Amino acid sequence: MYKKGAVNQNILYFCRKFTVSLNLINKLMKIFTNKSFYTSVIGVLIFSFMVSCVNNKNTMKEEAAINIANLDTTVKAGDDFYKYANGGWLKAHPIPGDQSAFGSFEALAEENYKQLLSIMEGAAADKDAKAGSIKQKIGDFFTSGMDTLKIEKAGINAIKAELDKIDAIKTPQDLLKSIAEFHTAGVNPLFNFGSGQDDKNSNNVIAQLYQGGLALPDRDYYTSEDARSKEIRGEYVKHITKMFELMGMNTTTAAQNADNILKLETKLAEASSTRKELRDPVSNYNKTDLAGLKKMSAFDWDNYFATLGLKNLKEINVGQPKFFGEMAKIFSSTPVDQWKTYLKWHVLKDAASCLSSNFDKEHFAFYGTVLSGVKEMKPRWKRVLNNTSSNLGEAVGQLYVEKYFPPEAKKRMIELIGNLKLALKERIEKLSWMGEATKKQALEKLEKINVKVGYPDKWIDYSSLTITKDSYFENIMAASRFYFKRDIEKIGKPVDRTEWGMTPQTVNAYYNPNMNEIVFPAAILQEPFFFLKADDAVNYGAIGVVIGHEMTHGFDDQGCQYDKEGNLRNWWTKEDAANFEAKTKVIADHYNAHKELDSLHVDGKLTLGENIADMGGITVAYAALQKALQGKDTTAKIDGFTIDQRFFLSYAQVWRQNIRDKELMRRLKEDVHSPHDARVNALLFNVPQFYKAFNIQPTDKLYIPEKDRAVIW
Ligand SMILES: [Zn+2]
Repeated sequence: MYKKGAVNQNILYFCRKFTVSLNLINKLMKIFTNKSFYTSVIGVLIFSFMVSCVNNKNTMKEEAAINIANLDTTVKAGDDFYKYANGGWLKAHPIPGDQSAFGSFEALAEENYKQLLSIMEGAAADKDAKAGSIKQKIGDFFTSGMDTLKIEKAGINAIKAELDKIDAIKTPQDLLKSIAEFHTAGVNPLFNFGSGQDDKNSNNVIAQLYQGGLALPDRDYYTSEDARSKEIRGEYVKHITKMFELMGMNTTTAAQNADNILKLETKLAEASSTRKELRDPVSNYNKTDLAGLKKMSAFDWDNYFATLGLKNLKEINVGQPKFFGEMAKIFSSTPVDQWKTYLKWHVLKDAASCLSSNFDKEHFAFYGTVLSGVKEMKPRWKRVLNNTSSNLGEAVGQLYVEKYFPPEAKKRMIELIGNLKLALKERIEKLSWMGEATKKQALEKLEKINVKVGYPDKWIDYSSLTITKDSYFENIMAASRFYFKRDIEKIGKPVDRTEWGMTPQTVNAYYNPNMNEIVFPAAILQEPFFFLKADDAVNYGAIGVVIGHEMTHGFDDQGCQYDKEGNLRNWWTKEDAANFEAKTKVIADHYNAHKELDSLHVDGKLTLGENIADMGGITVAYAALQKALQGKDTTAKIDGFTIDQRFFLSYAQVWRQNIRDKELMRRLKEDVHSPHDARVNALLFNVPQFYKAFNIQPTDKLYIPEKDRAVIW
């Protein structure tokens, strides 16, 4: 999972509401893959992804853990292990027209749509569902989204009330009030506001301000001069123009407005920190009081907070002071009328996929096709299902785990985590590059890591959220307001350590440095990540590495800056910190050298934390496997593969994925995770046991001389 700046706005053809807490979530978490960020962008604290269940063999195909047909043995393991391990599968699984990539995560999602559909259709058809029950809410939310007759008939009128509010703005004070009101409803013009743990006092929740206000996924799209960025900017202006035309604006005005919006957002982009800058927790921690904030940023904060109903704010973290300084200047120097069109654009963009099909299609044409190369929209039921699952995340989660999560999966997982923890402990004890004082602190931090598996002990209470069959858009607004209120009510209070940052139906896992905890939702506990019945080698190679990955986030280049209590505090001696940095540099260099699409490179610095976690994950999982195998016969082969071979093959198959070029280009720019082939090829060639398992020779293409290999944990 990832942290500050990991915003990954991918599939934008869901109703994207309430991005409010998104950045604040990114601030807090490191995810295993960016996969569920697609939906997390939509879902505040509650993200979701569609999944089925571990042992539900009714729909899951029974398959050998390592299926020989998934390999391509015509490729030499030492030349391209990713292809060797996955070539057969990649050939057999072309990307469906409605997706930008297709791999293990997506394949699992396809299976799991069926389970969630049965939950939602079941809820919608249940005439006995009590008014106000989660079943009624899930059923009605889903029904409202599927009611295309009503949605087509309403057209732009679905958001007329919001547009009228913008039209009524006369003064800068009105404008500011309106911006604050949109923030409470999950539309996030200008910047982001929400709550989050205090980085240096992790028991407390404080107010958090974070840069934002852009409708393209990253500030670099506005500022980069490369051909692809220019092309996207051109298409973006055309897209805004078309959306305004659909709203009834004449072409000339629409085009002029679109131009102005690009200019305005470019100013905000220029004031924004880059993704790499956002990865530094120290420079993004600037706690102050209201007077301090006003000094940093000449904005009418009294008016803003009063509109949110917040009184006596004592502590505020200003994530990016430079941005907030500039934002205030841009706010006061831009005419109110230009802001009004900017606001209309942001409302329209966020609402587009819940509006009539003309808006929905045009939105997809840009955010799906231009940005990610996706050819067709997902069928409506899948999109509405995604939206229901993210807006009513833990409500859906409750029904999901009741029906599909087997208790024995949790038991096996806790056992695995225990073994991984022990293996990492022994490795830290033996580290030659780290002194005793730092080791003591590292071991204490490891010991204190909290573990959550499956689903929360305490569910979110949705009783104050009203959902009806009447309006899809209103349901989404209601859910956004519900989450925003819940979020800011935490300010000034002690943190609730029972909360989860992902829903049970999410195929993912995360480490949260402020909580010093690792979390594994129910949905990732299934094949090809977790095999309830298979041998240890495949389980340690897959879910074992996921566990090791999340644990290592506590000790990656960012995680290592937080102590066992989740506070941003340096607990390293100078010498150990220097040794660590030198070791991370070797990793960054390896990934920098990894090429994609002939001429593009992985960004070794942007992806450093994730690559360190992958490297720790594979090393620790391998060590834990050796423990699990003690006293067992380790000579027998299964399907012709040794135990070590199965371990590495199992790891590689987690990452099998076909991806569209445009999507890959987008992720290289935005994603803190390396592309999947690099997660295999740039990684494994640092692992000595891998060389032995597949008899890799110096003449092989990916061979790395021993002295140049990276190892940290
Ligand atoms: Zn991660």
